[in-house]
Amino acid sequence: MSTNLTIRQPEGEPIAMAFADGVFVDANTDGDHLDTDDLWALPGLADAHAHLTMTSPKDIFGITDEIMRDNMPKTAWAQVDRGVLLILDKGGCSDLTLISLDHDPNRRPFVEVAGGMIHPAGGYVDGFGVEVAPEDLVAHVRDVASKRGGWVKVVGDWPRKGQGPLNNYSFDQLREAVDVVHAAGARVAIHTMANSASEAVAAGVDSIEHGPFLTADDLSALAARGGAWVPTVVNMLDVLQMLGPDSSGGKMFQKGLDEMRNNLPLAEELGVTVLAGTDMAVPHGEVSIEAMRLREYGLSDRAATIAASTAAYDYTGRTDPFANGEPASAVFFRDNPYEDVEALTRPALILHHGTIVRDER
Ligand SMILES: [Zn+2]
Repeated sequence: MSTNLTIRQPEGEPIAMAFADGVFVDANTDGDHLDTDDLWALPGLADAHAHLTMTSPKDIFGITDEIMRDNMPKTAWAQVDRGVLLILDKGGCSDLTLISLDHDPNRRPFVEVAGGMIHPAGGYVDGFGVEVAPEDLVAHVRDVASKRGGWVKVVGDWPRKGQGPLNNYSFDQLREAVDVVHAAGARVAIHTMANSASEAVAAGVDSIEHGPFLTADDLSALAARGGAWVPTVVNMLDVLQMLGPDSSGGKMFQKGLDEMRNNLPLAEELGVTVLAGTDMAVPHGEVSIEAMRLREYGLSDRAATIAASTAAYDYTGRTDPFANGEPASAVFFRDNPYEDVEALTRPALILHHGTIVRDER
């Protein structure tokens, strides 16, 4: 028995589809009918910088395995419940982040996962992540790249007392590490909140996380090779608050945020893959809030919607999510998010592997 429905995406003609046994199939005359004619469909929302093992930025200052295990299913269900069906988990305290891959694939979001975050001693919050000395970086990623959920996460820069932010690894170390990870079929994401951004782009890093100090040249280079940028504006605003706007760090951050107002429209114009990521600055499932911030900082409603949905699908190879045989997953909205991205905050219907997760039609 199949269920017929209409898939009306924000662009293009509505298509008649059906689903059966959890996957999309051709529309047919004998099935049920799920009325989605007046709704706008996306394959799902996507959070490209989540940490499913954690619930608050404070967790980086100390979290146990037990709490991480306990958080994981709850945070994943919270995401699905708000229509966030694709998650890029950008790592955590240890490789325990990979447990999300063990949960029921029909219930959890689609996930790609980095393991423990890699940094040298003094290069991130003490005791969080995996400490790897600069000269050991290449050997370390050679060992772990193929054992992760598609990603390796490196911390690119971190403030040192009295010196401000310094790069954690040299350009050559980073470039070689990127090559090794690519050869293993995985991707590299880098945490960069200061000047490591340009070297990371030049080294071929796949995804720039935060990146307030990306330059126009960096964005051109990213666009040319299909690189991604996850600005995490909500998180940046949180960090600014935490540092205090008058501190030296706060002033630096303010400068970076101001620069984002130029860089986001430029990224849209150049065709950089901009992805929405929450980084725990809002509750799990609220990537729509980041999409609204991206608009506030210069993306069009259309680009902000794409950043929080289809861009991440394309980026992870899910280029035709409504094709025959693909998982019957979709999120529907009453209003067209390309006209007002705020529509993403109110999913009317969520379908995941053919199961109706939420129905507020
Ligand atoms: Zn993060």
